[in-house]
Amino acid sequence: MRVAVFGAGQLARMMALAGWRLGVSFSYIALPGENVQCVDDLGDVVELTPELRGEALYEALGKPTVVTVEKEHVDLEVLRSLEPFCPVAPSPKAISFTQHRGREKTFLNDNGIPTAPFRLANSPESLRAGVAELGLPVLVKSCEEGYDGKGQWRLKEQADLDALMQDPAAHKELIIEGFINFDREVSLVAVRNAKGECAFYPLTENEHNNGILETSVAPATNSEALTEQAEDIAHKILDELGYVGVLAIELFVTGDKLLVNELAPRVHNSGHWTQSAGISSQFDNHIRAIVGLPLGETKPAVNVAMVNLLGHTVSRDLLNKGNVELHQYNKSLRPGRKVGHVNLWNIDRDALLQQMEEIVNAREEG
Ligand code: AMP
Repeated sequence: MRVAVFGAGQLARMMALAGWRLGVSFSYIALPGENVQCVDDLGDVVELTPELRGEALYEALGKPTVVTVEKEHVDLEVLRSLEPFCPVAPSPKAISFTQHRGREKTFLNDNGIPTAPFRLANSPESLRAGVAELGLPVLVKSCEEGYDGKGQWRLKEQADLDALMQDPAAHKELIIEGFINFDREVSLVAVRNAKGECAFYPLTENEHNNGILETSVAPATNSEALTEQAEDIAHKILDELGYVGVLAIELFVTGDKLLVNELAPRVHNSGHWTQSAGISSQFDNHIRAIVGLPLGETKPAVNVAMVNLLGHTVSRDLLNKGNVELHQYNKSLRPGRKVGHVNLWNIDRDALLQQMEEIVNAREEG
């Protein structure tokens, strides 16, 4: 069996590392000039050209059993051109919802799934009107592109809105969201296969720094009732879309309620801890789901944490422990760049959190 991945970054790398063990080989679609170091030696990389579509691309990829993605911002026309030759999972339709924040939130609300209140804007007038309807403070985000907190503006007072009107970056399709004073941020990594079987990892608690994920801990504390809500939300989305593969759902917790912030039609940074939890990882289960193998176990017997390495490394003293695993992406160090992550696990949650803090505080700049 062969899986072709659209994208050649660290998520493609970790899918391949998991997939090789299942007897699956890999190839990758890369954009012209894209850095493909993450998948060095892990299969053929096909650089996309405007002519390379359909059968020619299918052949160049080594006639894959299935095509998947490691990111949502891909050219759907390329994926659709492959569909007559092999399945694409998740489907271009599912990916399309997640490419546009407005489409995504409309889809969620149409299916009875709560999100922050929002308005869409594509002109200075509709921006002003949307902000007036929701009331300050709001968060304005570009509908397309923008991730890890980029392409976002927090408006606290009228002067912030006036300043944003002057910013050319804001003269695109925008979504205006009511500002949610959440208690914490969690995510649910879910997986569904073509038979409709679903599995869910425990809710994961995530800490961001400047819009970028810094740490994840699973299972999230006091999460029994929230887990039921989150799995119900995931089931609705997966079944409505006939989804195949891993879907990550980012959520805000406010009191005993969940609001969906964002969907990712792929394996997700907040699920990296699943590699070190004595269960099937999200990478393993994504490959299992898309090639039609039975899904693996998703409930760990231990507490697990993940610390992102963002342009830095950590002292070997902290890493050379029996309950710590370093994952490197074969990337060179650059400020803020995701170059790897550290997973750690412990039955004792307090000991785990303390050890995680030590790792977070032990940054060693390259
Ligand atoms: P996003 O790119 O939509 O995932 O947003 C990045 C981060 O901004 C989230 O992880 C939250 O910490 C914060 N954020 C996003 N939307 C809202 C909102 N409507 N209210 C408050 N904070 C938000």
